[in-house]
Amino acid sequence: MARKNSGTKRREAYHRQGPGALSRWGKIQTMRVISLPCPHCQSPVRAAKSRTMSSMMKEITYQCQNVECGHTFVATLEVSRTVSMSAMPNPEVRIPISSRAFLAAKNQMTLDLATV
Ligand SMILES: [Zn+2]
Repeated sequence: MARKNSGTKRREAYHRQGPGALSRWGKIQTMRVISLPCPHCQSPVRAAKSRTMSSMMKEITYQCQNVECGHTFVATLEVSRTVSMSAMPNPEVRIPISSRAFLAAKNQMTLDLATV
């Protein structure tokens, strides 16, 4: 039986969707889908559809997976603050910056000026 080399395994894992997939840097990442449990029965929910309201906000319709409950509800997903600055900032996008990101950016600018 032929033994698969690690490169083949890595490529297969990279293309696999879900937990344990490899990033393009070859590091194993656990992908999590963040959602709320059903507010009524606390069962897992499934995203049924989404609607983009703006580049900063999306509405998502969730369905409770508990057939005895059957609750369907809409939640909003909104960009609330920056925790790490973009290397490709869009001047039209205004997002509040967390104090931690602000300090990191300020320190980076000080380091950049010190090396010039
Ligand atoms: Zn429910």
